[in-house]
Amino acid sequence: MLKLRPIALALIIAFPVQALELPDLGEVSRVALTEANEDRIGREIMRQIHGDAAYLDDPVLAEYLNALGERLAGASPEPGRHFEFFPVKDASINAFALPGGYVGVHTGLISAARNESELAGVLAHEIAHVTQSHIARIVDAQKSAGLASLVGLAIAILAARSSPDASQAAIVTAQAMSVQNQLDFTREHEREADRVGLQTLSSAGFSPQGMGTFFERLQAQGRLYENNAPAYLRTHPLTYERIADIQNRLAALPYRQYSDSQEFLLVRARVQAAAGEGRDAVREFEAKVQEQPSAAAWYGLAQARLRVGDMEHAARSLDKAISLSPPSPLLDLARVELALARGQVAEATKLSSAALVNNSAYRPLAYAHAKALMRANKTREALDFLTERLRIWSSDGALYALKAQAHQALGQTAESFLAQAQAYVLADRTDAAIEQLLMAQKAGKADFYTLSIIDARLRDLRERQQKETPQKESSQKESPR
Ligand SMILES: [Zn+2]
Repeated sequence: MLKLRPIALALIIAFPVQALELPDLGEVSRVALTEANEDRIGREIMRQIHGDAAYLDDPVLAEYLNALGERLAGASPEPGRHFEFFPVKDASINAFALPGGYVGVHTGLISAARNESELAGVLAHEIAHVTQSHIARIVDAQKSAGLASLVGLAIAILAARSSPDASQAAIVTAQAMSVQNQLDFTREHEREADRVGLQTLSSAGFSPQGMGTFFERLQAQGRLYENNAPAYLRTHPLTYERIADIQNRLAALPYRQYSDSQEFLLVRARVQAAAGEGRDAVREFEAKVQEQPSAAAWYGLAQARLRVGDMEHAARSLDKAISLSPPSPLLDLARVELALARGQVAEATKLSSAALVNNSAYRPLAYAHAKALMRANKTREALDFLTERLRIWSSDGALYALKAQAHQALGQTAESFLAQAQAYVLADRTDAAIEQLLMAQKAGKADFYTLSIIDARLRDLRERQQKETPQKESSQKESPR
């Protein structure tokens, strides 16, 4: 399989646009591509992204990005639309929207944002690309191609564009070549995404100036590194005209001061503490707590120290952070994780139970609590907790994966496979789910009730699998009966 580099993912949105006769951009008309189809394509691409090394499985970042994104999407022209935001481990400054409202955010972008409004400004711009149907139009241009070939083409283009070196050019398929020259959003798309995004940013309560300052800085960087401009600039061409346009719009908007949320400051420190070499991160944050001894700086130092295995000092830094901060589920979670890392499992379960009282809706804490209980051999308790959570978060794959672990630890093999199958279903991995169910059937020891669930699921999934398999060009249809 082709290696998918995240920088290039931004280009997934970049199907031929100019070739299409599109209605005036001012009017948001739904194109022929239905939202359901767009979502299918997006989910298929997400399935591939989940398997990529750059996909970052960090519930803390995902939780924060989704809270921020939902707040913005709620203030967008289409507040009811589905969005899912996910972090991508990549130091370059970029964000990208996929069909179906999936928005990837590079850790480099979070790290480089000087304030929350800057980060929100970039997300608002991406959200606008989705709500203004730019993505749908682009995908629609390919509707004659089947889903499989469409996704395949996207991946081929991505792989090719991630490394523009001549040596890599070999992987560019002929098909991809034909659309290479039409890969970027048009200026009209960019202008509209800026206009709508700015409105969204302001309506959501952020400082609209954040969009202006961030894009200006990006442009300045682009001038500095001509051949190595920030990835964002390659996919969202930033012209002087565009900047001037944003400035004009900003002048018409009231100036608004927005104070960064504590969560943003902590999340940014978390990202920075995880970047580069662990030792360098420790040194960096040691300097930061000298300069500006904030809760975020101490939290960053704690995370960096945890990374290099310096538990003792990590604990002290974390205490310092907690003493300087208003209550935060992120800091509570850090205490649980630190206790687990130090092997203090009883302490960890005590901390996670206490933290959940006021933060029952914070998913990363729920995962940590279940893990802590299992580490403390309180597996039954963990299972009860997971079952209760799944009643509220019924489509949470991470909870199902933890449930599978708990069943496994209790020797309930069939139930374990069944739970793991559900985790795969939620990740759109039908084949893997079926495999789990087949193993569940053979596992034995399951009661009649569980076995009948397994059988029913298997039937459903096989049906789904048949629908998903791309239809072969068969001549049967045309042949006379
Ligand atoms: Zn753009």
